[in-house]
Amino acid sequence: MVTLLDRNKPVRSALRHPEKQSRPDTPVLAKPHWLRVKAAGSSTFLETHAIVTEHGLHTVCQEAACPNIGDCWEQRHATMMIMGSICTRACAFCHVATGKPQALDEDEPRRVAEAVEKLKLKHVVITSVDRDDLSDGGAEHFGRTIEAIRARSPETTIEVLTPDFLRKEGALDRVIAARPDVFNHNIETVPSLYVRIRPGARYFHSLRLLQQAKELSPHVFTKSGLMVGLGETRDEIVQVMDDLRVAQVDFLTIGQYLQPTRKHAAVARFVDPEEFDELARIAYSKGFLQVASSPLTRSSHHAGAQFAELQAKRAAAMSAF
Ligand code: SF4
Repeated sequence: MVTLLDRNKPVRSALRHPEKQSRPDTPVLAKPHWLRVKAAGSSTFLETHAIVTEHGLHTVCQEAACPNIGDCWEQRHATMMIMGSICTRACAFCHVATGKPQALDEDEPRRVAEAVEKLKLKHVVITSVDRDDLSDGGAEHFGRTIEAIRARSPETTIEVLTPDFLRKEGALDRVIAARPDVFNHNIETVPSLYVRIRPGARYFHSLRLLQQAKELSPHVFTKSGLMVGLGETRDEIVQVMDDLRVAQVDFLTIGQYLQPTRKHAAVARFVDPEEFDELARIAYSKGFLQVASSPLTRSSHHAGAQFAELQAKRAAAMSAF
C-alpha cells in the first residue's frame, strides 16, 4: 500500500540531502497503528529543549527526526550529537544532513557537560556525525567530551555511540582510554544491504571495531543496533546476531526502519511486534546479555534503564561463578 508522506516530518530534504535530490522518489508505506506516537510538548519536554538550545548543542533526537522524542525528552533524555550537524557520509537511511562539516567547536565538550549536569542525567548517550575529514575521525573530541562530563557529573554513566572510525588508526584507543561505560556502534543492517544502505561503511570493519573495543577494555559494555524492514531476510538477521556474538557484543537493539523522506531508502515492510518479540528470543538464545527489540526501539531509547539492567545481569552472571 502506498500513501502520502507523514506531514509531521520536517520537509527539509532539499537542503539536508543534496546528494539524494536526483534520486527517484520512493514509495511510502502507510504506518501501522503500532508505530503511532503521541505528540511532544509537555513542560519537561520544553525545558529539555531550552537547555539543549541554551548550550548551542545538537541532538540526534532532532536531527534524525526520531519518533521517540516526545517520550524521551519528557524524561529529559536527550542524546547529544557532537561535532556539528553535518555528516561526511550519505547513508540511504539517515535523516542527518550530508555535506562539508563545520570546524570543530573546542568549547563543545564543556557545554555538553554543563547541559548533562543541568538535565540531571544518570546516564547519557553521546553520539556524533561521521567526521571522515578529521585525521582522527573525532576521537579526541569524543575523549574530551567523556572526560568533561565525568569531571562535572562523576555519578553519571556514559554511553558513546560512535562512527566506525574507518581508516583512522588509533581512534578507538583514544575513545576507550576515556573509559566510557558503554561502547556502542551500530551495525545498522545486514551485509548484503551495505552497498545500498550504508555505502561508506564496511560490515566487517564495524564488527571488528566492536570486537576491538572489548579487547582494549574487557569491562566496557559493548552494544550494537540493527534496523529491520529494509529487505533483509530472517536468516541474514540471525547471521548478524551470530557475528555480533563472535565479536562479544553484550547488548543488541533491533528496531523498525522508518523512511525519513521520499529520497531515502523505501521501507520494504513493517515488522509486527510479535516478530520483534521472536527476534528478541532468538537473540537471547545466542547469548546476548541484554536485548531491546520492538518497532520503536532505537539505540538510545530507554538507554539508562537498560544499562542498569545490563549491569545487574553481568553482576548476577559473575556471582554464579
Ligand atoms: S530514542 Fe534516542 S534519538 Fe530518539 S528521542 Fe530518544 S534519546 Fe533521542
